[in-house]
Amino acid sequence: MESPVYDATVLGGGIIGRSIALKLIKAKPEFKVLLIDQFSMSESQGSSKGRSKGIQKTHWVKETDTMRQMRIDSLQEWESLQMTVCPKTIMRKHEALFVGPADCPFMMYTLDSLQKYPGFDGMGYMSNASLREQYPNIHFSDDCVGLLDASELCLAADTILEHILEEFENLGGTTKKGQVTEITPGDTINISTKEKVYQTKKIVIATGPWSGPMMQEYGIDISLKRKHAMEMYWKLKKPYIPCPSLFEYKNKSMVWTNYTTEHGPCLKIGFPGEIITHEDLHDVNKLHDKKMVIAMTKYIEDTFGEMVSTIKPTQIENCVYTFTKDGKFILGRHPEKNNIFFAVGMSGRGFGYSPAISNIVCDLVLDRQPKYDISEFDVARFK
Ligand SMILES: Cc1cc2nc3c(=O)[nH]c(=O)nc-3n(C[C@H](O)[C@H](O)[C@H](O)COP(=O)(O)OP(=O)(O)OC[C@H]3O[C@@H](n4cnc5c(N)ncnc54)[C@H](O)[C@@H]3O)c2cc1C
Repeated sequence: MESPVYDATVLGGGIIGRSIALKLIKAKPEFKVLLIDQFSMSESQGSSKGRSKGIQKTHWVKETDTMRQMRIDSLQEWESLQMTVCPKTIMRKHEALFVGPADCPFMMYTLDSLQKYPGFDGMGYMSNASLREQYPNIHFSDDCVGLLDASELCLAADTILEHILEEFENLGGTTKKGQVTEITPGDTINISTKEKVYQTKKIVIATGPWSGPMMQEYGIDISLKRKHAMEMYWKLKKPYIPCPSLFEYKNKSMVWTNYTTEHGPCLKIGFPGEIITHEDLHDVNKLHDKKMVIAMTKYIEDTFGEMVSTIKPTQIENCVYTFTKDGKFILGRHPEKNNIFFAVGMSGRGFGYSPAISNIVCDLVLDRQPKYDISEFDVARFK
């Protein structure tokens, strides 16, 4: 049977690609929508893999009004997804505690974003003494103060990815496995994999850490940085509840630690590490950074020493972050080819913000005006 010409194709089956594909088919049930990924949908190697990801009311870098609004809208969409649509548990609310010196930009931006959040309850910094009193099991540096976001959303990433795909397929969406090697622009775009050529009227490129070379082919050098990340799990002596997610600014970078029951009661720690090359993406699971393990082990020992029952991590998972030069997403239409769209460069926040991101890209593909002023995400800034 001859292949159809798809109305829209989304390249990349991570959280961004899947969310866009689902929104497209929901908005236009008559559309033929294709979602392609080089890996099988259940074995992603991309940034979205992992058991959990979070989104908070706060943010720790300077943000624009658009970014703030996207965060607020995304938090609301996640909550309504859980309440009205998804039968599985896809999130839990959690305390997120931010700590660092009072005058460092990390804490100042976090406070600013919390104060601007609708319904903010007026709480400012917690002193070092009250941190120690409220969280006696955690060792805080002498110079740090704290800020509490009492309702971080901890998202069950793997369940969410499964749910979105299931809904997309139930609504008639098509998924295919295949590594795309060439995209030939035109009124009808040809998408070549080793096995097959697909035809589509519009394409969205949502290829995560693999996006650099793909975009270079269009004369766009987005200088995307890929950073290796290791998520390490330490077993706890007992379940410590409530145990906040801790975001600590130390030695000029942020380390985050999460209480989780993903592998029994554990602390999970993460940190963006060394820059890696495009070739390193061939087998992310083989990446291992001994220096990072040593540094994180020391951090756990110094900060949570009395809570953990093991000196070494019991489990390590490798993953890759993707950062743009200015830390902002790349969302929009190709500068010259108006049926090619980009949704890349998620800079460490793509999972949480995926509801707002997918709304924007879906609107663009359907020639509707997005709710936000998205000029700051324009790919033309890299030309
Ligand atoms: C350890 C870690 C923790 C994180 N924690 C958080 C968090 O708490 N909150 C948050 O919001 N974000 C978090 N992030 C970031 C977030 O996970 C990413 O921003 C998000 O998952 C990016 O999704 P994506 O769909 O753009 O990319 P990906 O998930 O990488 O998906 C891209 C897909 O494109 C496919 N692809 C690429 N090239 C081709 C090709 N040529 N042909 C076919 N398919 C192709 C890939 O196979 C891949 O499946 C974290 C990231 C890491 C690494």
